[in-house]
Amino acid sequence: MNPNILAHLRVTPANPTRWIVVGQLLDAKNRRMLKNAHLIFDQDHILHVGSAAPEAAILSGQRTPDLTLLEATAMPGLIEGHSHIFLEGSELAAEKRADYQKQDPQTLYQNAETRLRTLARLGIIAMRDGGDKDQVGLRLSKLTAAKDCLPFTAKVFSPGAGIHRQGRYGGFFGKPLEDHANIESCVQARVAAGADHIKIVPTGIINFAKGLVVAKPQFSIEEIQQFKQAAHAQQKHLMAHASGDIGVGYAIEGGVDTVEHGFFITDDQLAGMRDKEIAWVPTFTPVQEQLDHADLMGWTGETLDHLSRILENHACSLQKAMALGVNVLVGSDAGSCGVAHGTGLFYEMELLEKAGMPTLNILCQATHGNNNVLTGKQPYGSLEKGFRPRFIVTGNNPLETVKNLSRERLVVFDGAAESSATVSLENL
Ligand SMILES: [Zn+2]
Repeated sequence: MNPNILAHLRVTPANPTRWIVVGQLLDAKNRRMLKNAHLIFDQDHILHVGSAAPEAAILSGQRTPDLTLLEATAMPGLIEGHSHIFLEGSELAAEKRADYQKQDPQTLYQNAETRLRTLARLGIIAMRDGGDKDQVGLRLSKLTAAKDCLPFTAKVFSPGAGIHRQGRYGGFFGKPLEDHANIESCVQARVAAGADHIKIVPTGIINFAKGLVVAKPQFSIEEIQQFKQAAHAQQKHLMAHASGDIGVGYAIEGGVDTVEHGFFITDDQLAGMRDKEIAWVPTFTPVQEQLDHADLMGWTGETLDHLSRILENHACSLQKAMALGVNVLVGSDAGSCGVAHGTGLFYEMELLEKAGMPTLNILCQATHGNNNVLTGKQPYGSLEKGFRPRFIVTGNNPLETVKNLSRERLVVFDGAAESSATVSLENL
């Protein structure tokens, strides 16, 4: 894209209002593309969106747009549905990953803060985090909550530490329930510490060598129900890491708000999620990365077959979920092994598309859909009058394939504008 375009997207004292016309604009709320759309914004708000030219009154005399880009698409900034901002996801070596996590909390925090600035310039304007035990997410949540506190920085929504059963999976991003007298006081303590939502770990993870989830669930249905009641009493949603049909079943029966991963989910369970309005964040990427880097991971023979089968079954479940009308949301589990922040979300969208999710649907769910359920209906994730001007402009039509979103794009964030091409992807 012509670099002069950036200058015309920036809000300046001489140009406090910008008016652009694009060939198409994603109306994520109504799941459609507007053709030849007008978008007018100032530093703080979107002033007008529509197919018709605005009334002159909005622009105090301006008669023509600042920019007309009939080959371009404008769409809301993306919202990552599942991340661990404290982790460097691009690292694949187990030893280096372990060493990284041993760094002091302040270093982890500073690395994460740098990541947030990078992510905004890639077009990812917010994320729902899956937890860390060193208050990295909570500190970033507070820091990014204040309007105008940090320019061009992605907003973090954090659960603080995930909640797991003592001695079971989850210790590297969570703290045990047993630190508290009971479930209610555990949830209250998380909220008092500043949690935006509550993250529980009802199951272990997939044993790739065996091709299934071996460990029994960490929490009973009754315990999950108590988590839900305690979280909802504090107006927080309950995010549940769950894989394996038994544990996924417990999570659904317990009434969590979102099932994360959900590998080995059954068709009946998907129907149950639809009925109970539980959203699903399928996170294909961490398992796909294991297959993509099988050599490095040391996977051979039967394990490779397991990985392929698990991903194929997951794709079938995704198609079933869409046919049933389950709310499928978009999150990559960025930070987990091989899943870099930023690029991981673009890869997740690509994998969802490959698995059969319609492209328009992916674009709408990665923006408005995620914001509706995961980040508490913020004034972004959709291009609407009165919302924050945080959006992407790209010359590569994302409706043809979401892969086009990975190519150069321009990002407007509260009156500033940058090209993704200038962003360093190191340390994500
Ligand atoms: Zn996670």
